[in-house]
Amino acid sequence: MAGKYTDCAQGHSSVRISGKDDNEFVANVLAHLKSIHSSMPTPSREQILAMAKTA
Ligand SMILES: [Zn+2]
Repeated sequence: MAGKYTDCAQGHSSVRISGKDDNEFVANVLAHLKSIHSSMPTPSREQILAMAKTA
């Protein structure tokens, strides 16, 4: 399965969040949001995958 990534640069310098598959990518995005963007509403799995780029 192809890995996915996204570059987050909201309120900080660009950080690449990646995962080797959908589950890992979603988990890593959620961990980033929880630790860095705790005031943002939590997106759904579908919303997270919609912003993924294929590595
Ligand atoms: Zn971020």
